[in-house]
Amino acid sequence: MASIFISHSKRDVEAINAFCQVFARTTMRAIFEEFENYVVPPWTKIKNDIQQSSAAFVLLSPHLSGTPYTQNWVSYEVGLACALNKPVWVYEQLEGPVLFPIPYLTDYIVYSPKNRGDLNSIKGLVETYDPSPAFLGLGLGAIIGGLLSGGAGAGVGAIMGAAALQRKSLGIPFRCPHETCGVQYKIYSQFQQFACPACRQIIYVDWTQTPPQQ
Ligand SMILES: [Zn+2]
Repeated sequence: MASIFISHSKRDVEAINAFCQVFARTTMRAIFEEFENYVVPPWTKIKNDIQQSSAAFVLLSPHLSGTPYTQNWVSYEVGLACALNKPVWVYEQLEGPVLFPIPYLTDYIVYSPKNRGDLNSIKGLVETYDPSPAFLGLGLGAIIGGLLSGGAGAGVGAIMGAAALQRKSLGIPFRCPHETCGVQYKIYSQFQQFACPACRQIIYVDWTQTPPQQ
């Protein structure tokens, strides 16, 4: 069974429950490694788990960035995923932004664990990693549907809807405009203002003026 590594803190009960419910509705397996309960020595197990996963999800929260201990483990996991050429998805809660920079990422999602529409969209994104033939017959646009919560425009749903079966064409390709950053990732909501997940400097976007960057 294909899997996705989930970097999280066990204290984030609501987010964990939300992602458990999402994965339960897919054929993908979520690997939850808890910073608080690593087996000894932790790095080998984590490395194997990431190696075997199709992607890594980082569930940002105050608990995740609250201590040097957990911060270092997040860094280790993200660095490993980068070295192993795995996509890194940063998930930040709409209700609780955490200005903790993740220097390498491929996708940035702002969501609400309370929002059923958001969770359905995430389910659709998770399923793009499902290698089973059953999934290939489905149209992603129908699964993923509209905007993630908080988006200002109506473009994301259309982009997702047109992007049948091609994960690489989901999301809006974006490049941080700050000179000291310039990290490229995909975003899934058209916020007019947000903090870059890689450098945490504020970005202002006028979507009527700014076409997606390739
Ligand atoms: Zn940046």
